[in-house]
Amino acid sequence: MAKENLLLTPGPTCVPPDVLQVMAQPIFHHRTPQYRKLFEKVSTDLKAVFRTAQPVYTFTGSGTLAMEAAVVNFCSPGDEVIVLEAGKFGERWRSIAERYQIKALSLSAPYGSVVPLENLERALKEHPKAKAVYGTLCETSTGTLFDVEAIARLIRKTEAIFVVDAISGLVADRLEMDLWGIDVVVCGSQKGLMLPPGLSFLAVSQKAWKLVPSAKCPRFYTSLQQADAALKQSDTAFTPALTLVLGLKLVLDKLLKEGLEHVWQRTEGLARKTRSSIQKRGLTLFSQHPSNAVTAVNVPPGIDGKKLVSIMRDEKGVTIAGGQGEMTGKIFRIAHFGFVSEADIEKGIEMLTETLEELKTNSVSRAGS
Ligand SMILES: *Cc1c(COP(=O)(O)O)cnc(C)c1O
Repeated sequence: MAKENLLLTPGPTCVPPDVLQVMAQPIFHHRTPQYRKLFEKVSTDLKAVFRTAQPVYTFTGSGTLAMEAAVVNFCSPGDEVIVLEAGKFGERWRSIAERYQIKALSLSAPYGSVVPLENLERALKEHPKAKAVYGTLCETSTGTLFDVEAIARLIRKTEAIFVVDAISGLVADRLEMDLWGIDVVVCGSQKGLMLPPGLSFLAVSQKAWKLVPSAKCPRFYTSLQQADAALKQSDTAFTPALTLVLGLKLVLDKLLKEGLEHVWQRTEGLARKTRSSIQKRGLTLFSQHPSNAVTAVNVPPGIDGKKLVSIMRDEKGVTIAGGQGEMTGKIFRIAHFGFVSEADIEKGIEMLTETLEELKTNSVSRAGS
């Protein structure tokens, strides 16, 4: 089915029509057995998607709320943590930690690359008191995949917990929370989970839970103790975004019916197709370790990257993302996860090719006049 306004952005993503439909039903009350049954089902199915036997907590709020919850529930002011930074979202971990007077030791790498494992190994040795290591599965700002399996292997041997922002990576890139020994996985609803923005999730290991009672950062809405007491009753501590929970049930049904392995493979296929189409057109990829969620492409010389994005959106009906922060105007990003088909990618690339041609012709005629 053709989409009127094709979103090829790394969040929000397109929502399947039947999911939109199910979310259009009248509002019901949440302190009811019917709701508890629904919430129990989604909380169980979420575990299958996070690949964990541990509880997955649902909060009403965007992904960053769950990131904040993953800081305040495990740390105290004055604690030391290690942050793996190679883009906007790695930097966000540091900003949140610093806001709570936590000492964030940044291990940074240039945008488009990943932090070398040796650097982390050394930092873990030099900072044996570090409470946690904060990292990212897919660094959405650069389209870069971190090898969280290898990172987890280093951290598992230490006292520190490993917290992964998988907000864009989950469902697109393989992630095995329990098998790889990841302690906390954070996600949001509007990316691979194909829902509107508004829900965020936090899966928490037993090793991470041990830090919760002594963590002194202030918290109310994001308190895991409250969330856990409620989840034990198949409930949330506060009014959940009910509509989205209804949609989530259907999305999880779809994902588990297809099978996560298949979803990963299909998404990898779309990512490969996107990358090869991009390269066939003489464009170059920005990331050295591309994620299956989103492809970052260098804006060719002489092209106005911001204009490229706005023309595609306003005249061609295809929304892609520009660069964020220091990457503004230098890269553009095409997402290929969630409710995206091969035909959608083809349309996106076709419109990209058209727009680039137009911009080139314009710049040539301007240069010649
Ligand atoms: C989208 C995204 C976020 C931010 O999520 P919000 O829902 O905008 O709060 C954080 N981290 C990554 C990796 C993301 O892709």
